[in-house]
Amino acid sequence: MNAIEIFKHLPGGLKIENANCKECGFPTCMAFAIKLASKNTQIEKCPFVSKELKQLFEEANIIQQHEINLGNDIKSGGETVMFRHEKTFVNPTRFYITLSSNDIHFDTKLNDIADYEIERVGETFKIDGIYLIDKGNINETIHKIKAKSLNVILKTKKITEEFENVDNIIIEADEFLDVKKKNTIVVSSDNIEILSQKSDTVQKEGFKSLILKYENIENKDIKSVINDLTNIRFEAIENKNQAFAYPVMTRIKEQDINKIAAIASLLICRYSNVIVFDVFDKSLFSGLFTLRQNIFTNPQKPLQVESKIYEINNPKENLDKAIVVMTTNFALTYFAVANELEAIDTPTFLLITPSDGMSVLTAWSAEKFTADMVKKMVNENEILNGLKHKIIIIPGLLASMKEELEEILPNWKIIVGTNEAFEIPQFIEKLNKQIINV
Ligand code: SF4
Repeated sequence: MNAIEIFKHLPGGLKIENANCKECGFPTCMAFAIKLASKNTQIEKCPFVSKELKQLFEEANIIQQHEINLGNDIKSGGETVMFRHEKTFVNPTRFYITLSSNDIHFDTKLNDIADYEIERVGETFKIDGIYLIDKGNINETIHKIKAKSLNVILKTKKITEEFENVDNIIIEADEFLDVKKKNTIVVSSDNIEILSQKSDTVQKEGFKSLILKYENIENKDIKSVINDLTNIRFEAIENKNQAFAYPVMTRIKEQDINKIAAIASLLICRYSNVIVFDVFDKSLFSGLFTLRQNIFTNPQKPLQVESKIYEINNPKENLDKAIVVMTTNFALTYFAVANELEAIDTPTFLLITPSDGMSVLTAWSAEKFTADMVKKMVNENEILNGLKHKIIIIPGLLASMKEELEEILPNWKIIVGTNEAFEIPQFIEKLNKQIINV
C-alpha cells in the first residue's frame, strides 16, 4: 500500500477524532502513513488504526514469491510482477548442471563447468550450481563442488545428519522426516494440484524455505508446460497463493542441443526460476546467458558504462597517431564500438558521453547527446590538446551535428563515422591512409 492509500484509512484521512494526535510518535497521520508505506514503522504504533486498515495492510504485505538463498550470494525468486515492463524482475533464472556422484569423469566435468564464464555488456556470467544425484561417496563430492564455489541441489533418497550441517545444501528427497526445518527443500510433482498440496503440507510441518519442482516436462508438450508454469506464477503473484509462493525449478533431460536451446528459452521467459540441464555445452549457455541478460535487465535502468575517456591501444604514448572517437554511454553501444577499436592497431581516445544509458539516436532526440556536451568533454580533457591530428569521429547517425560541432570546436576536424560498429575497422583503415598517413 502506498502512503495515500494508508492515509485514507487513518483518523487524519477520515477527518475523525484523534486525527494528528501524535501518539504514534509522528507529527501527523500523513507522516505516519509515509513511514508505514516505506516500512520504517509498525502499524501497531497507532492505537486508532481500524480493523479494515489492519486487514488491508496484512493482505498487501503477503509475500508473493519468497526469495531463496541458493548459496554464494546467489538468490532465486523474490518476484513481484508477472511482466518485466510492470516494474522489473528481481533474480535471473539460475542454471544448474546435473552430475552424478559416481561419474568416472566427475572431476573433469566439474572443472569444465566451474571454469566456464562469459562476459557480456560488462557483466560476467557463470553456471550457478550442480544438481547432484547421490550415487554414493556423497560427502567427498559435495566438498569438491563447494571448493569450486558452485552451489548444490542434492537429489538423494537417504538423508543423513551430515547433509544438515553443510550450509546451503538444498535437498530433494522422497521424505523430509529427518531434515531440519532450516534447510531449503525441493518439493516435486508433475501435476500442479499435487504440487500445491505438497507445498501446503511441508509448510504446515514447519519448512519455510522451498523450491517447487515441476517435473517430467519431457513427457508433456511444451505448451502445457508453459501453461502450468504461467498458472503457478499467476497464483503466486496475482492471487498471493502461498502454496506457490516459492521459486519454481524445472529439469531438461533432453540431449539434443537445438531442442534444449528452444525449451530453455521458453522456460527462461515463462517462468522457471531454476533450470537444471543434463547437458553442459558452452555454445548453448553463451546463447542462454544472452537471452537471460536481456530479460532480467531492469527496464527502468538501461545498462550503462561510466562516462569518461577510455584509452584503447595506448593513445597517450602515441599522440602523433591517436584519434578521438565519440559515442554514448549505452553499454551495448560502448562494448560494440570498443570491441571493434580494440581489434585494430590505431591508438584511440574513446569519449563516452553522459547520456543516461541511451543509444545514439535516442540520446540525441532527448538532448542527452548535444554539441555543448561534446565541447565540454573535449575541453575538460587536456590530454587531447597534445594530439597531432585534431580529429573527432562522431557516430554516423549524428551526421547532422557536424556543422554545429565544427562551429563550437574550431580547432577540430569533425568526421562523420559509421552507422554500424562492425564498419569501424574498414573506416579507420581508410582514414589512416587518407588523412593520418600511417
Ligand atoms: Fe494519526 Fe494514529 Fe498517529 Fe494519532 S497515532 S497521529 S491517529 S497515525
